[in-house]
Amino acid sequence: MDIANPTEEHRMLREMVRDFVTEHVEPQALECDRNEIFNLELLKSLGELGLLGLTASEDYGGVGLDAIATVIVHEELSASDPGFALSFLAHAMLFVNNLEHNGSEEQRARILPKACSGEWIGAMAMSEPDVGTDVLGLSTTAEIRDDGNWVINGRKMWITNGCLDDEGTPADVVLVYAKTGADSRGKAQISTFLVENGMPGYSVGQKIIDKTGMRASNTAELVFEDCIVPAENLVGDVGDSMIHMMRNLELERLTLAAMSLGIARRSLHEMNKYAAEREAFGRQIRDFGQMQRYIGESWAKYRAMRSYIYDTANNMGLGNSGQRLDSDGVKLFATTAAKEIADAAIQVMGGYGYVAEYVVERLWRDSKLLEIGGGTIESHQKNITRDLSKTPEVIND
Ligand SMILES: Cc1cc2nc3c(=O)[nH]c(=O)nc-3n(C[C@H](O)[C@H](O)[C@H](O)COP(=O)(O)OP(=O)(O)OC[C@H]3O[C@@H](n4cnc5c(N)ncnc54)[C@H](O)[C@@H]3O)c2cc1C
Repeated sequence: MDIANPTEEHRMLREMVRDFVTEHVEPQALECDRNEIFNLELLKSLGELGLLGLTASEDYGGVGLDAIATVIVHEELSASDPGFALSFLAHAMLFVNNLEHNGSEEQRARILPKACSGEWIGAMAMSEPDVGTDVLGLSTTAEIRDDGNWVINGRKMWITNGCLDDEGTPADVVLVYAKTGADSRGKAQISTFLVENGMPGYSVGQKIIDKTGMRASNTAELVFEDCIVPAENLVGDVGDSMIHMMRNLELERLTLAAMSLGIARRSLHEMNKYAAEREAFGRQIRDFGQMQRYIGESWAKYRAMRSYIYDTANNMGLGNSGQRLDSDGVKLFATTAAKEIADAAIQVMGGYGYVAEYVVERLWRDSKLLEIGGGTIESHQKNITRDLSKTPEVIND
């Protein structure tokens, strides 16, 4: 059984994305990283292949595929250009999949066709300058006015696709999490809003530059200053954000792990090729025991992460929660493994590995973000340990 391509449809999807990557993604990856360029047109062109609406239903312009398909696409894009893959993830998973499962009929019908075609690029804004992991501590507020409209005030930080260019054009549409009150025990009540470009008070604070990696994706601070949002742009009911986050976070973590898988696979490919080409002391360097340790251990780690990620994807239903142990588990394991494999690749390739043209130094820099974004590795350790205390029986299942 091929766990990574369980059906003919999955295999064809992988081939299609791989061909697209070879022809269109790989040729621009080095330049976009070097100059911190977000290739907006390339992202939009994924709409023609149906990839922007990968998990959205066909009624709204999507192709209605499953979690395995999301892993395939992220793995293939990330094997070439993780920065570009991250922008894709922010749009297709954090925005489109989120709205598909949490939005109303009216919101999906109005917005998803534009997001699936690439006419609109979306983002998701949870993090703030002072709050990341501790999401209930966020300080952006939304207050309802007498006329039924909402007024949002606050700042969101680190938002992938938050700005679309260097002129300060914000994402066409962004899902914003904001505090709308507190419950009887004083716990923050968080609600989700759709904010669209052109709504008064919505703007880019700054494009965040000089990132270690993921330089081909735009990261921005977004500002909401007395931002007026119509009543129909509240997603679900007041206080529903925790449900929205739970429904989407597992897929986010799975696909971030899939990005790590792409990085690991490419790093392994590059180091294996180089070890056969490079000679020292009259022998291929792959004959040296210490090089064999890098290559051998990288292979075993790569195969382990691949199995765990696709096993989790095979069991994950979109739009429902219940896979948190493994969505945290794959991200915890795969992100660090990818970083270690990229590091091993640099080491095997010596001085060349340290230079951009040989790709692996970029993969190494990009891999680091995956230990932070979408939940830090410490938060995964915490979640797994807490869940195992509640359901210890899963260990012996
Ligand atoms: C390139 C990039 C893109 C991003 N894209 C998005 C996006 O599109 N949308 C979005 O909303 N956010 C985005 N983020 C934000 C990202 O999700 C956060 O950076 C991440 O959640 C961590 O939050 P923080 O940076 O505020 O760190 P903090 O939460 O302040 O954590 C700092 C350190 O403290 C540790 N820590 C915190 N709490 C605990 C605890 N209870 N126990 C043990 N250790 C703890 C953390 O693990 C970490 O090591 C992005 C970030 C980057 C860098």
